[in-house]
Amino acid sequence: MRAAFPDFRLGNVLATSFTGTLSERHGNAVERIPTPHRLIDWLAVNGLAVDSCTTAQLDLARELRESIHATATAAALQDALPASAVQVINDRSAQGRAAAILTPEGERRWRLSSASCVEDALSVIAADAISIIAGERDGKLALCASPTCLAAFFDTSQSRTRKWCDMNTCGNRQKKARFHANQRKNPRSAE
Ligand SMILES: [Zn+2]
Repeated sequence: MRAAFPDFRLGNVLATSFTGTLSERHGNAVERIPTPHRLIDWLAVNGLAVDSCTTAQLDLARELRESIHATATAAALQDALPASAVQVINDRSAQGRAAAILTPEGERRWRLSSASCVEDALSVIAADAISIIAGERDGKLALCASPTCLAAFFDTSQSRTRKWCDMNTCGNRQKKARFHANQRKNPRSAE
């Protein structure tokens, strides 16, 4: 039955990959972590493996996700940050105990305080969101140009002119829509 769940969208930025687990927020929204088990799967893919998750922990995760989305959107628009959403991010950040570990190969890993501690994993995501919203990292928060998406994403392109949260989904759909519009305008054009 697991094949019935929507795939994850993977990105390079932990916090916005997490907000991407709800996509098409302004269209037909797709919930990519519909069950506690799918949150476990998502965390494992992102280097934050836990072996159990309750529905209450899934609720905490979704609350954090929507708080990051609201705060990152305000930051991208240079609006005042929503106080209640900021509070959720800060609470999640403060309530986890995750340690950064350096491997012998020189890579950073996260070590959670226990294998069942979703709260620890959420604290890592909250801290990642804080670092991008606070402008500590090289890049710029922007909103996806797709009107059914409008996801906040972190643009690390050199020119800071990226338009879509994800080239393979929103970017591609936009390109196809433009292609079909051009064909209708120019039916004989080969392009
Ligand atoms: Zn998008």
